[in-house]
Amino acid sequence: MNQTSTVAQRLTAVRERVESAAHAAGRSPDDVRVLLATKTLDADVIRTALELPEAAGMLRGENRVQELVAKGPALADLTVETHLIGPLQSNKVNAALRWAGCIESVASVDLGRRLSERVPAGSTLDVMVQVNVSGEPTKHGVVPEDALDLAVQIAGLPGLRLLGFMTVGANSPEADLVRTGYARLADIRDRTIAEGVATATELSMGMSGDLELAVAEGATLVRVGTAVFGPRQVR
Ligand SMILES: *Cc1c(COP(=O)(O)O)cnc(C)c1O
Repeated sequence: MNQTSTVAQRLTAVRERVESAAHAAGRSPDDVRVLLATKTLDADVIRTALELPEAAGMLRGENRVQELVAKGPALADLTVETHLIGPLQSNKVNAALRWAGCIESVASVDLGRRLSERVPAGSTLDVMVQVNVSGEPTKHGVVPEDALDLAVQIAGLPGLRLLGFMTVGANSPEADLVRTGYARLADIRDRTIAEGVATATELSMGMSGDLELAVAEGATLVRVGTAVFGPRQVR
């Protein structure tokens, strides 16, 4: 089978999954964007996918700063919004700022401050607070109990605009458990808006295996990798 048409078909299939999940939840499919998680893929593969008409309106996410930097120049002419969706060490803040328009993985006020200090005067950096809703120890993110406080602090830092929240859902076959975590993120988002942070509307949650559950709980951004590109090669 032709590789590119496979990616095109899979992009369409993902869009259809999002649409039916949105309809089932009584939501507009236009309120759910799709981010392509392009970790481990080469820049030419990413470019080919993003230039397909089936990818119109989709975003791109990298979870390692090293990959953001390595692929940045080759993809710099694309007008695709690019997010960092993995942890950011403070010594890599400048590189992340250069190549990502949004940092979805802010999980401490310390990182927020470092980002705030480096944002060029007169411009704004979009960020999300990453929350570990499942409590799985391998997962990055602030504990749910501290998420509202952190969000309000981050939103108050100069140069940062808090767009909302990100999570990686529970790694479990139990749909109820996964959904409960996503509902928890939606509740944190609602309480943050009620605290006066009107920009914090986004819920980045749901991946290839569980995006329907996330859309049912209000996801505004789903992040998919394998559903479009197939299984990743281990590097
Ligand atoms: C890789 C990755 C995804 C996509 O995962 P798939 O299961 O391949 O769809 C989503 N979010 C994050 C943070 C990732 O690192």
